[in-house]
Amino acid sequence: MRYSNYFIPTLKEVPAEAEIASHKLMLRAGMIRKLASGLYTYLPLGLRSIRKVEAIVRQEMNRAGAIELLMPIVQPAELWKESGRWDQYGKELLRLKDRHGRDFCLGPTHEEVITDLIRKNIRSYRDLPINLYQIQTKFRDEIRPRFGLMRAREFIMKDAYSFSATEESLDEIYQSMYKAYCNIFERCGLDFRPVEADTGSIGGHASHEFMVLAETGEDDIACCTSCSFAANTELAEVKTDGRGREPFTPGNESLKKIETPDKKSVEQVTQFLDKKAKELVKTLIFLADQKPVAALVRGDHELNEVKLKKVLQADRLEMAGPDVVEKITGAPVGFAGPLGLPSSVRVVADSSVAYMKDFVAGANEQDAHFVGLNWKRDLEPPEVHDIRVITPDDPCPRCGGTIEIKRGIEVGHIFKLGTKYSEAMGATFLDNSGKERPIIMGCYGIGIGRTVAAAIEQNHDERGIIFPVPISPFEVIVSVINVKDREMLSWAEKLYDGLSCKGIEVLLDDRDERPGVKFKDSELIGIPIRVTVGKKVIKEGVVEVTDRKTMETRLVSVDNVIDEIESMLK
Ligand code: ATP
Ligand code: MG
Repeated sequence: MRYSNYFIPTLKEVPAEAEIASHKLMLRAGMIRKLASGLYTYLPLGLRSIRKVEAIVRQEMNRAGAIELLMPIVQPAELWKESGRWDQYGKELLRLKDRHGRDFCLGPTHEEVITDLIRKNIRSYRDLPINLYQIQTKFRDEIRPRFGLMRAREFIMKDAYSFSATEESLDEIYQSMYKAYCNIFERCGLDFRPVEADTGSIGGHASHEFMVLAETGEDDIACCTSCSFAANTELAEVKTDGRGREPFTPGNESLKKIETPDKKSVEQVTQFLDKKAKELVKTLIFLADQKPVAALVRGDHELNEVKLKKVLQADRLEMAGPDVVEKITGAPVGFAGPLGLPSSVRVVADSSVAYMKDFVAGANEQDAHFVGLNWKRDLEPPEVHDIRVITPDDPCPRCGGTIEIKRGIEVGHIFKLGTKYSEAMGATFLDNSGKERPIIMGCYGIGIGRTVAAAIEQNHDERGIIFPVPISPFEVIVSVINVKDREMLSWAEKLYDGLSCKGIEVLLDDRDERPGVKFKDSELIGIPIRVTVGKKVIKEGVVEVTDRKTMETRLVSVDNVIDEIESMLK
C-alpha cells in the first residue's frame, strides 16, 4: 500500500472527547472516527486491525470445531417474548417497528435467534453437539457509551452458541472454548486473565470472563496472591467469619436515640458521633420487582447489587428514589435503619452485619440515629446473606490467602447456559431412548473492537501505538526520506516489492513530506518495523531498521534486509 494513495487522517492534537489512551490514540492514528455517541466509522487502518483480530478468532474457532454462520441484526419481538427478555432486557435493547407496526429489536446478542434456528432444524441426539458462531455487528443502547470502541453502542462481536445432549458434552465444549479464548488473546499480544464471572441478563450457571489487566478497565477483579483464584468482584464470594464469636451476640451499651441534624452520609454520621464506619449499619432501600427491601451492610463495606438481586431472585432491582424511601421509612434519605421499619419491608443483612454489636443505625426519623443497637436484645435478627463487595481485607474464599483488587477490561465472556432458552423456547431433541429433552446450551462472546482497543491500552508509549505484530494494520513501513530523489525512491520501491512478494504487509510512505513528519506518523500509528531509506542506500547500500517497541535503530545492508525483517517478525 502506498501511503500517498491511502487514507490515514492522523491528528496532532489530542481530541477533547477522549479520556483514555487507546481512545485518544485510535482517533489520533486515524483508525476510527465518531459519527454519533457510541457509533464509529472504522477507517482503513482501524478496519485492517479489526480484520486481523477477526481472522485470529476465526482460525481458533474453526480449530475448536465451531462452524461459522451469519444471522440478521434485526430480530422479531416474538422470539424475545418467548424467552421472556422482551420485558427483562431494559433500555439497552433498541426496539423498532416495521411499516406494518410489528415490533422488532436490534440484536444485542443472539440466543433467541439461534435457539429458534436450532429448534426448527435439529431433532435427534445424533445431530448433537453442534457449536455455531458468527462475527457480526451488535447494537446495545448503552447508558454511557465511552472510551471509543471499548464501550460503543454499535460494535462487532464474535458470538458462538453450543448445543449439547448432555452436561458432559457442554463441559467439553466449554473447555475447548476456554482454551481457544486463551489462544486468541495470547495471539493478540494481550496480558489477560480468565476470571470467574456473573452470568448477568444472559442467564445460566457457570461463566468466565477474559480480562485484560489495565488501570482504565471498568471491571474490578479480585485475585488471590497465593492460589489461582480470580473472580469479578460482582461475583467474588466473601467468607465472613466471626473470629470465634457467635453471630447476633448482643453487647452491653444501652440503646439511645440521638439527634443527628442533617447528618446523612456514613462519613457525616460517624464523624458527628465519633464512631468508626465499621460501627455503623448502612440501610439501603430497594425495590425488588416493586416490593420494598432494606439491605444492611457495614458502614465501611459496599453493597453488591448483583449478589442482592440473586438472593432476592428478583427480575428487577432498583434503588428506591427519595419519595419511595420517605414513604417506606417515614424519614428522608439518610436516616433509614433496621429498627422500626414496617413489617412489610423485607430486611436482608450482609453476613458481617450479624457479628456487629452496639452499632449505630438510622432511626427512620428525620435527624435521628440510634446508638448502642444490638441484635436479639433490641431487634429480631434479619435474614443473612453474602451481599457485599469483597475487599482486600477479606480472605481468599478458596484458600484463605490475600486478595488484591485489580482493574480489568472484559474482552471475552463464556457461559454455560444450560436449558434456560431451550426450555423457554421449546428447543428439544430425542435422546437415544426416544425421550424428548431440552437441548443444553452454552454461549461464548468476544468483543472484536474492544480487543483492538484493549491491545492498544496495553501497548503504547508517549509516541503512540506499539502494535503487537499479529494485529498490526501493516507489519512494516518503508519511509522514504526524499521522494523527489528518483534513485532513493526506486530503492524503496524495490524493497517494498521484495517484502510484499514474501507476503509481508508493507506500507510505503512515499508522501512528499519532511522526514520528521513521516517518523512521527509511523510512530503514532505503531507499525512494528520501520525501514528508513535515505542517502546511505545510494552511497553504502544500507537502510535503517527501527524496532517500534524499543525504538532501536540498526543499519542493515539492502541485501540482507528482507531476511532480517522476516526473522524480526517471527
Ligand atoms: P460489559 O459488562 O462490558 O457491558 P457484557 O457482559 O455486557 O459486557 P457480553 O454480553 O458478555 O458483555 O458480550 C460479549 C463481549 O462483547 C464482551 O466480553 C465485550 O468484549 C463485548 N462488548 C459488550 N458490550 C460492548 C460494548 N458496548 N462495546 C464494545 N464491546 C462490547
Ligand atoms: Mg454490557
